[in-house]
Amino acid sequence: MINEIVIISGKGGTGKTSLTASIIPYFNDLVIADCDVDAPDLNILIQGDTVEEKDFIGFQRPIINYDKCNYCGLCHTSCNFNAISEDIIINESACEGCKVCEYVCPTNAITMHDTVIGKIFHRKTVFGPMIDARLIPGEESSGKLVAEVRKLAREVAYKENRNTIIIDGSPGIACNVISAITGVSKAIIVTEPTISGLHDLKKVVHLIKMFSVEAKVIINKYDLSLSKAKEIKKYLDLMGIETILEIPFDIEIVNSISNLQIPSTTNIPFFTSKKWFEFIEYLRK
Ligand code: SF4
Ligand code: SF4
Repeated sequence: MINEIVIISGKGGTGKTSLTASIIPYFNDLVIADCDVDAPDLNILIQGDTVEEKDFIGFQRPIINYDKCNYCGLCHTSCNFNAISEDIIINESACEGCKVCEYVCPTNAITMHDTVIGKIFHRKTVFGPMIDARLIPGEESSGKLVAEVRKLAREVAYKENRNTIIIDGSPGIACNVISAITGVSKAIIVTEPTISGLHDLKKVVHLIKMFSVEAKVIINKYDLSLSKAKEIKKYLDLMGIETILEIPFDIEIVNSISNLQIPSTTNIPFFTSKKWFEFIEYLRK
């Protein structure tokens, strides 16, 4: 069975992606999946050559042939998403592709057409193959795109006999995050010792409890607020979730990211500590 590990966070800016990048060099049978399709940036630290690039068709949207339309208004009144105006103009961003308008149109003026919602990339990196994707700005079906990235990552893992998939998930608790955590072996939640960090952590923990996923938490930059870090640990104890790592703030981590270096591959003391290697061992199991 493939060891699928997802790294998520309740909010952006917790250091999730730099932590994901720091884990990657410790595996030699890896497929990397960047599922943060709204803002994919793992490839900034884990660079690779693009082997394949393809469009992803998320769903179908209607097109109206106005030569056939008699302006009866049925499509407007039948659309549950208010995506067709009274003067029979489609609002693409409101359309959910349900096909009701096509079904009700008495003159066959409406036909459904494939809609590209993003691009998927297959890259070759020094650490193994990487699948990542970019959602077209304004498109909303990021959950489908994430599911496709994971499916392709699994296909590559099976084909190349690789036993681990590391998934960089999106921040938050939306459908793209649900797609990223469904069926994984382990979830690592990255948080920070702030009021908003704890608030968003609670939302992610609530979400993860609905799935049968083994979850553990990393408090990043824990020493920026020892009292808030203590509060987070107390909350996690109550929820029965282990705080597996507390990473101290180190300006060298910030500097290494600015220099496009993976923090764990530099001489930062934390990444030579026993706790770090125990964490890597836990991920490998
Ligand atoms: S249902 Fe068909 S014919 Fe009627 S307004 Fe809509 S597109 Fe035109
Ligand atoms: S496909 Fe569905 S959501 Fe889109 S315009 Fe037609 S009825 Fe509305």
